[in-house]
Amino acid sequence: MKAGAHPHTGKKQELDALTGRLRREARKITGPRAAILEILRHHPHPLTNKEIFAALPKDGCDLATIYRAMQMLEQLGMVKRFDFGDGAARFELVSEGDDGHHHHLVCTRCAGVVEIDECFPAEIERRIATANGFTGVTHRLEFFGVCPACQK
Ligand SMILES: [Zn+2]
Ligand SMILES: [Zn+2]
Repeated sequence: MKAGAHPHTGKKQELDALTGRLRREARKITGPRAAILEILRHHPHPLTNKEIFAALPKDGCDLATIYRAMQMLEQLGMVKRFDFGDGAARFELVSEGDDGHHHHLVCTRCAGVVEIDECFPAEIERRIATANGFTGVTHRLEFFGVCPACQK
């Protein structure tokens, strides 16, 4: 994994390509799943299940359906789960050929989110791996603070 280089190409990905990937997984695309992908594609920042639910057309799709759909999409590697420490999982679209690895800076007052391109130097991860005899070490990391608008 390259340190400090996380190109964010996910936002450009077409829904067609995503539904194509779902088809290759030989799973039936139900209305809610296609609609969820469409919603995530139009949001630059991670969404909670409740936010996805609120953005979906009110056609009988319930929160439990969304929970299951998000689990499936995560297993397929199509969405990435983030934890901002408030107990609500957030999901973001992952594009093909991108591992989705990046970090966020979250405003503790307004919950605004900025995507951060910087990452740990790979050397730190290598040191941690070597010191503990681990392989395949990765990390999750989110930053918190007060955004410029909330400082006024
Ligand atoms: Zn703020
Ligand atoms: Zn990182």
